[in-house]
Amino acid sequence: MATTTFTRKTLGLESTEPAVTPPPSSAGNVLPKKPKLGATKSKKREIPEGLWTKCPKCAAMIFDKELDDNLKVCTKCGHHFRIGARERINALVETCSFEEMDAQMTSVDALKFTGVAAYADKLQEYQKTTQLKDAVITGIGRIDGHRVALGVMDFDFLAGSMGSVVGEKLTRLIEAATEKGLPLIIISTSGGARMYEGMFSLMQMAKTCGALAYHAKARLPYISVLTDPTTAGVMASFASVGDLILAEPGAMIGFAGPRVIKDTTQAELPPGFQTGEFLMDRGLIDAIVPRKEMKDRFGYYLEFLAERMKKAATVG
Ligand SMILES: [Zn+2]
Repeated sequence: MATTTFTRKTLGLESTEPAVTPPPSSAGNVLPKKPKLGATKSKKREIPEGLWTKCPKCAAMIFDKELDDNLKVCTKCGHHFRIGARERINALVETCSFEEMDAQMTSVDALKFTGVAAYADKLQEYQKTTQLKDAVITGIGRIDGHRVALGVMDFDFLAGSMGSVVGEKLTRLIEAATEKGLPLIIISTSGGARMYEGMFSLMQMAKTCGALAYHAKARLPYISVLTDPTTAGVMASFASVGDLILAEPGAMIGFAGPRVIKDTTQAELPPGFQTGEFLMDRGLIDAIVPRKEMKDRFGYYLEFLAERMKKAATVG
């Protein structure tokens, strides 16, 4: 180091500091540093892990930063990767407008479920790795100028399964929307009801739908967004009863898995079975909306629905 300092200083402008290492003869010592330079070069050639992601659809290698900037949508083929609830909320709501509800609510191990691992341990593990308390984030925020009650599920937390916390948080959100006269948006992704909570999970299907019925009775709009994958107990309850049902491109949507259906019906399943596109052709889904257009579409739909609501209120 000292040699380098000395060499640089003598080559550059007049040095104000005295040279630490002496004589010109030692300038030859610069040469032994060559291997060091070589070593740095070979390091540069290595691709550090976790910087690139391979697209499962088109096999393109995408720089992670590029993928994040593009809301986790492949820049080459448009494949929609899964995205976390917080990331999604940040991309949708106006800055600092989101007030989270029931952020600290956590499940209790009511059934003392023990399988391969105890439920209580599993919960702790997932809370640590995802930095979430459970599989949904709820709150009230502003999207494109409209105040909305927003619930967003996260697949990374126990496969987005619905237990008592997911059901209770969503029910409280729907009730808050009814009370405050707000439109409701729920963005779903789920493997279904949470088996570790047995019947308590299944009860959430009826509970959320009951709250939605009151929201509908108050003539308030509910937009349900289905993302990859939305299945089983969630699809069979609040996710499929929206006034408008949207889906992200290529999302797997269904109740039971394709293998179970094939075995039960003994029939060959049609191509594209259990995708959003397939269900749109058959009338269950109203529109396929790419993630990057979702915010603008919400603005458009909420504007339209708000006007309809006003008209309905004047007439009725
Ligand atoms: Zn791709």
